[in-house]
Amino acid sequence: MSEIRNPDAPQCSGGIRMTRERVCADNKRIILNSRTVDVNQLVPIKYKWAWHYYLDACANHWMPTEVSMQRDIEQWKNPNAFTPDERHVIKRNLGFFSTAETLVGNNIVLSIYKLVDNPECRQYLLRQAFEEAIHVHTFQYIVESLSLDETEIFNMYRENQAIYEKDEFSMSCTDGILDEQVDLTTSKGLQKFVDNLAAFYVVTEGIFFYSGFVTLLSFGRQNRLPGTCEQIQYILRDESIHMNFGIQLINAIIEENPHCWTPEFAAYLVGRIKRAVELEVNYAQECLPRGVLGLNVQLLREYVQYIADRRLEKLRLPRQYNSGNPFPWMSEVIDLKKEKNFFETRVTEYQTGGALEW
Ligand code: MN
Ligand code: FE
Repeated sequence: MSEIRNPDAPQCSGGIRMTRERVCADNKRIILNSRTVDVNQLVPIKYKWAWHYYLDACANHWMPTEVSMQRDIEQWKNPNAFTPDERHVIKRNLGFFSTAETLVGNNIVLSIYKLVDNPECRQYLLRQAFEEAIHVHTFQYIVESLSLDETEIFNMYRENQAIYEKDEFSMSCTDGILDEQVDLTTSKGLQKFVDNLAAFYVVTEGIFFYSGFVTLLSFGRQNRLPGTCEQIQYILRDESIHMNFGIQLINAIIEENPHCWTPEFAAYLVGRIKRAVELEVNYAQECLPRGVLGLNVQLLREYVQYIADRRLEKLRLPRQYNSGNPFPWMSEVIDLKKEKNFFETRVTEYQTGGALEW
């Protein structure tokens, strides 16, 4: 029964042996550590950025159930508080997010974690996976609080074309990586993995989430759905760290494996991001056929193009659109540190004394 193990084969859990050879940070790599260095030792840390993203993420800890939904419930029950178009766009966005967060969590655990075997990056991935669980919980909590039809919301990704196409774009990349044949010692295998990372960190979390963020936060700016919008702000803050970590991860993998970054592959990634922008504009069209709150498809297209250019630049790829930012207030929301008052109402004590009683 026992197989002969190829000593060169990547082993995501490492496999240890007794030795006095100590881990040297310089020998650490983002992927394929098992060939050169123990994968179970966080310290000595080489990728300080990954460790700092982990610390920042922990400092931002929050839970949806800390946020009161009372005013949202009162508003949602009031038949005059929202127009039918407003109810439509709110439900569409809750429908999209309710399953998209699960897709992101699954991809971390089922594909990224196995291939990224650097301990400091894995420390962040473990934290991110928990944050995705919190985000899934958030949408369950909002749907339950507002007494929405949960089957309508949670089935939307299979019943609505525009949402289905976005999710299909992301999920097709998880399938590619689950393929046992992916071999990270080849350029082709590395490109497949970078494509997966780009589909999730740059497209799903960095583009597909953003018309939903803009739309839901536009209600918050009018003091409507304040509990929902407070939670969306926390999610947006988490997601911007996810995306920045992912882009830094992609760039580090490319620096360590420059042979996979061919002009053809760079052009392919630009094409993928342009396709994602089209899917996001179709989604905006479906959510806002007539526009609400001064938002319309044209403005959302401009915004999605604007953020796509920002993502391309961070990947050292050429800008494609040169659109302006029609929602400058979004940058202020993303940089929540400016809004000190925002946090004054939240629970910050996480030591549950009760759990420590003997
Ligand atoms: Mn998330
Ligand atoms: Fe995320």
